[in-house]
Amino acid sequence: MRIGHGYDVHAFGVGDALILGGISIPFEYAFIAHSDGDVLTHAFMDAILGALSLGDIGRHFPDTDPQYLDCNSLGLLSKVAEMMRDRGYLIGNADLTIIAQRPKMAPHITSMVERLASVLECDCERINIKATTSENLGFTGRGEGIACHASVLLQSTTD
Ligand code: MG
Repeated sequence: MRIGHGYDVHAFGVGDALILGGISIPFEYAFIAHSDGDVLTHAFMDAILGALSLGDIGRHFPDTDPQYLDCNSLGLLSKVAEMMRDRGYLIGNADLTIIAQRPKMAPHITSMVERLASVLECDCERINIKATTSENLGFTGRGEGIACHASVLLQSTTD
């Protein structure tokens, strides 16, 4: 087994929807980002890459590369899933935390889990997503953006 952790932050900017876990959530802002700004999927990918000792998403998908401009982060997750499978691992389980004052995440959590699990080709019960506010403290509490943490345990398919 191998363990990995990921963390990512994106700030809010002009727009009318947030992409989180591949789900579009109508909101009064959008994420400022080179890609679609899917901060949850970015943290998740960094955790998987970390568990594989493969660095981070910046190394594999640089934000200076025009091919990743406005790209769908689930497409990148699919590439990370391929790297994981090629090295003989599958998702043992993953625990993801969204830190956001707003919008309310609860109505979207199940859809996010289903979307991420389908890209990773794993059972939904292997992925847990939870959300918390930061009690109005800090940049997330002031509603300036969203932070996400991801912990992942990978399981060898060869043992
Ligand atoms: Mg990011």
